[in-house]
Amino acid sequence: MSRPASVDVVVIGAGAAGLMCAIEAGRRGRRVVVLDHARAPGEKIRISGGGRCNFTNRDAAPRHYLSANPGFAISALKRYTAQDFIARMDRRGIAWHEKTLGQLFCDGSARQVVEMLTDELREAGGELRLSTAITGIERSADGFTVATANGTLACASLVIASGGKSIPKMGATGFGYEVAERFGLALQPTRPGLVPLTLDPAQLERLAPLAGVAVEGRVSHGKTRFEEGLLFTHRGLSGPAILQISSYWREGDEIALALAPGADVFAQLREARAANGRQSPVTALANLLPKRLAQLITDREAGAVNLADLSDKALRRIDEAVNGWRLKPTGSEGYRTAEVTLGGVDTAGLDSRTLAAREVPGLYFVGEVVDVTGWLGGYNFQWAWSSGWVAGQFA
Ligand SMILES: Cc1cc2nc3c(=O)[nH]c(=O)nc-3n(C[C@H](O)[C@H](O)[C@H](O)COP(=O)(O)OP(=O)(O)OC[C@H]3O[C@@H](n4cnc5c(N)ncnc54)[C@H](O)[C@@H]3O)c2cc1C
Repeated sequence: MSRPASVDVVVIGAGAAGLMCAIEAGRRGRRVVVLDHARAPGEKIRISGGGRCNFTNRDAAPRHYLSANPGFAISALKRYTAQDFIARMDRRGIAWHEKTLGQLFCDGSARQVVEMLTDELREAGGELRLSTAITGIERSADGFTVATANGTLACASLVIASGGKSIPKMGATGFGYEVAERFGLALQPTRPGLVPLTLDPAQLERLAPLAGVAVEGRVSHGKTRFEEGLLFTHRGLSGPAILQISSYWREGDEIALALAPGADVFAQLREARAANGRQSPVTALANLLPKRLAQLITDREAGAVNLADLSDKALRRIDEAVNGWRLKPTGSEGYRTAEVTLGGVDTAGLDSRTLAAREVPGLYFVGEVVDVTGWLGGYNFQWAWSSGWVAGQFA
């Protein structure tokens, strides 16, 4: 039998983490091949941030990540920071801007980021093989053999950068988790994160008039809270604040909504009543909320009366309905629309300094496949850049 072609590093997955890792390993003089079953590299980069890629967050820090071991990400995030990636974008001349809350987006197309990475890979001597299905991975005396539909490759280091399960339509698979299990690494249970939440049919019917209404709200789950946009949809609730809380929410849990956070609704309604008792409650409330939302709440809490007809108790009920709304989502839209996958390769089996498997020399896991999941806002790409960069120094 002929010996398989041999390289130093095989990276599986040409996404953000895999490309970054391959570039860095290539710059160290390692012979690197990146394999991906997709037809194009960096597809999630291309579609991210509405096509403008929220490529990092200026303030990325470990507290913006969920993991069974929240301290695991510290080392990589410190060694390759948001500033490091910004400097890379600047060297390349890719224009960017800060949108809100430290979130940095390209001024132009996200494709520029993909092109930067694939150019850098080529310059570093790395090779990209697309449309390549992986058919088997074996350990060998001096590393691994990776069988593909187009032949077998031997390598000393194998980097799994195959991402999570989100958006299967784009080629997301549970591949990385299967590899981890095969090599004896534990997994943290996976579930969709940064995903819209759904409501039961009765709630949906009641809230149907609100489809399309957006507010700057506050959404809480226990002590965790996010103050960002909140959107009512035909299926339930969406918008940044809901996506953020979805990563903390578990089935059966309640969430609390404040639709006019910071406003003393009771005091404002009382003032309105004193100033003009003949106005309708909906007119008064519409100073604080979109009209349709004000209508739904006052229909339910007050009926067709004037403000003057409402007692303090009734005004407090409206206040409570606006800023103390508690509701129980029935589920989420699932991996079909989730931006990330929570859980994944248990960090207990990985060395945080290198991203290598502790018990399997030469095997690395980077990016979303690892049990490190960021908030919405550029944090997930920063984890992909940081973890990929770190593994690229050792693989
Ligand atoms: C719609 C959307 C928008 C997003 N927007 C943002 C954003 O603006 N900012 C942000 O920080 N994060 C964003 N994210 C999250 C971010 O895209 C991911 O966290 C990030 O891409 C993870 O990088 P990765 O390299 O680990 O995995 P991926 O980018 O998912 O790359 C994995 C690669 O592995 C390949 N692969 C998978 N299985 C196999 C297999 N069996 N064989 C061969 N190849 C395989 C895939 O084809 C893919 O190319 C968004 C996600 C989505 C879905």
